[in-house]
Amino acid sequence: MGSERVVIVGAGIGGLVAALILSAKGCAVTVVDKENAPGGKMREVAAGGRRIDAGPTVFTMRGLFEEIVADAGVDLGDALSLKPLSILARHAWSAEERLDLFADIDESAEAISAFAGPEEGRGYRRFCERAKRIFETLDEPFIRTPRPSVESLVRGVGLFGLPGLMQISPFTTMWRALGDYFKDPRLKQLFGRYATYCGSSPFSSPATLMLIAHVEQEGVWMVDGGMHEVAETFARLAEARGARFLYGETVTEILSAGGRATGVALASGERLEADAVIFNGDVAALAAGLAGEASRRAISLPASAERSLSAITWAMTAEAAGFPLIRHNVFFSNDYEGEFDRIFKAGRPPNVPTVYLCAQDRDDNAASVATGPERLFCLINAPARGDSAPLTDSEIAACETQTFQLMEKCGLTIKHSAEATVITAPQGFNRLFPATGGALYGQASHGWKASFERPGARTKLKGLYLAGGSVHPGAGVPMAALSGKIAATSLMDDCASTRRSRPAAIAGGTSMR
Ligand SMILES: Cc1cc2nc3c(=O)[nH]c(=O)nc-3n(C[C@H](O)[C@H](O)[C@H](O)COP(=O)(O)OP(=O)(O)OC[C@H]3O[C@@H](n4cnc5c(N)ncnc54)[C@H](O)[C@@H]3O)c2cc1C
Repeated sequence: MGSERVVIVGAGIGGLVAALILSAKGCAVTVVDKENAPGGKMREVAAGGRRIDAGPTVFTMRGLFEEIVADAGVDLGDALSLKPLSILARHAWSAEERLDLFADIDESAEAISAFAGPEEGRGYRRFCERAKRIFETLDEPFIRTPRPSVESLVRGVGLFGLPGLMQISPFTTMWRALGDYFKDPRLKQLFGRYATYCGSSPFSSPATLMLIAHVEQEGVWMVDGGMHEVAETFARLAEARGARFLYGETVTEILSAGGRATGVALASGERLEADAVIFNGDVAALAAGLAGEASRRAISLPASAERSLSAITWAMTAEAAGFPLIRHNVFFSNDYEGEFDRIFKAGRPPNVPTVYLCAQDRDDNAASVATGPERLFCLINAPARGDSAPLTDSEIAACETQTFQLMEKCGLTIKHSAEATVITAPQGFNRLFPATGGALYGQASHGWKASFERPGARTKLKGLYLAGGSVHPGAGVPMAALSGKIAATSLMDDCASTRRSRPAAIAGGTSMR
């Protein structure tokens, strides 16, 4: 790899991974982000005088990160301090109904048997095997393949062919498939919730998404310093290899000449020339023409593309009492289907939302925090209509009441104040992630085709690449990170092949690019 000049638009995890890999290979990398810090969705906010993670909180697929940073000669263990959790999450339906899911399958099976009966415990073991099989079937031929199609996937699953493909259940909804393993609706709710990890409804997603349960089963890690530290670390590592970061600068246009990306224009009027550009924002922004005509034409999104979930979040320093909170906690509503109908069909927030609560100062031992104020991050699902139909103040207030009431019903009282709480609604996420309406995971994974319709790293405009949660292999920190690696590798491969073809092209007197 030579000294290609690469501009990366966005310092989300996808952009940061690409920056690290390309700067390690000797490219002259400039990363531009309109915000004042790296991380994108992996952001932190200040509430009650403390910094709190206000984006992703669940760190999974440690092995994938090890592989990714190894490409840049980095040992993940030297760069980040990670501690595994033995309890993945604590779930509650009421003050009397609580269930922990453990990193150890036997422990979880025992807990599930005690909670819902031995048949459900056995169902859980069969479910784990199925989720593992789906993950293993898809890992190489789909997740890690730059631009998989149905045909390449069928070829990739090798000898198993179509029967192998059917094993991943693309044509059954996740909710229906969960019925093969669980009779208890609470367990269907618990495992169906994994669809929301990529912003989708378990009632509309293919059963294939059960693989997310396997990913979490493989390990959930706490990051010393919080998730935002992952972004800071990647930025530091890239910087140490020569990457330059321009914060507080918006890219207004991806420039092109002769059918090729040639750089970017900034809102300040400055232009940065480049041999290649990687766009790490949501592809919806390109489709909406926010980065100019050439990049608008460079991608095509399916007309049927449906936005994924947005959220309302409360990042706060507050006092919690009455419930043995651990790091990750979930409080379930009593009408799961109604929740997704409200969001995806009516486009309004749920009447009674399911609530996720991260207690950032705790590990998997509820006693890890003494009494007093602590950092809490609370999230409910919401429709991604922050641009066309923003939530009103009274809708947000009603959601807040429902959210905190549900937690109280489960025994948890949170004493929080407006001064020590930062609320972000879909319209806020839409401002942070333009042209998304606040969708946090790109396109929803509804129906069997959606996963094949995500754009890949290469675009129709030569020299313009895509990375991030809205492109293949999809949303979530590990997948967006992998997309950054795929974008960097595609870019390097294209540069190498251009270099190889250059002498012949010159001899033939034709254009090289
Ligand atoms: C509240 C929340 C909770 C989540 N929970 C989890 C979780 O627990 N575990 C998990 O794995 N995932 C989780 N996710 C999803 C995960 O955070 C994302 O999939 C991932 O971080 C997306 O990374 P990305 O590479 O797409 O970049 P993004 O984070 O989307 O960042 C893109 C960056 O591009 C910048 N940008 C865009 N356009 C321009 C422009 N024109 N000029 C300059 N800069 C621009 C933006 O400012 C932004 O910084 C969560 C997300 C949210 C929001």
